Amino acid sequence: MRYALLSDVHGNLEALDAVLAACSRARIDRFVFLGDLVGYGADPNACCQCVRALDPIAVVGNHDAAAIDRLDTSYFNPHARRSMDWCRAALDDSHKRYLRALPYVVRVDDGLTLFHATLHDPESFGYVTDEIDAMMSFHCLDSQLGVFGHSHVPDAFRCDTTGIVERIPVDAVALEAGARFLVNPGSVGQPRDGDPRAAFGILDTDTRTVTTHRVPYDIETAQRKIHAAGLPRLIYRRLAVGQ
Ligand code: ZN
Repeated sequence: MRYALLSDVHGNLEALDAVLAACSRARIDRFVFLGDLVGYGADPNACCQCVRALDPIAVVGNHDAAAIDRLDTSYFNPHARRSMDWCRAALDDSHKRYLRALPYVVRVDDGLTLFHATLHDPESFGYVTDEIDAMMSFHCLDSQLGVFGHSHVPDAFRCDTTGIVERIPVDAVALEAGARFLVNPGSVGQPRDGDPRAAFGILDTDTRTVTTHRVPYDIETAQRKIHAAGLPRLIYRRLAVGQ
């Protein structure tokens, strides 16, 4: 079984299209969506439609929660808040109903757990950015693999049988028996690791590997649409530098 791991699309249809084209070449059996379909980008409706058509196993992200008034946005930075106000007004009711039905955590057969931010406190939308954060989520992980998003940076952690947690290279993670793993495949629509290409992951349950992938996409068109929607300059400028 091959799962495509998609996270943080953020209304970027050009990036999503490029990732789905790569997935169609990669013999994907099932799609996993790790939250933040909307927010920042200019195509929240088209992205919702596209992802819903994949019938993914999915969890809710903080921007999704904000778009359906499930999350207070006072802690968002001013740019994110302005784009969220725009998104809330633009988003169709049917997509809001879809987002409202998404859970914070999903446990799948095949030893897989999905969440957007952290597993120990998924509704607070904290971050897993180092071994200490990862350790807290490992405490609550009862499957071999947890996949998540939120930081927009591809990242991976391994917890051995003695409970020692270490960061490991994210490009190819071998899921060896006994150890447990947390993997963030990076962001489809707004990468923040300095590489502007769209990011996604593939879990292959036969070869017991998670791999991460990058694909170029039409950044200029995505930027032009954000500009045309009257959204803050910072949001479209950062796409070109992957920050
Ligand atoms: Zn996000």
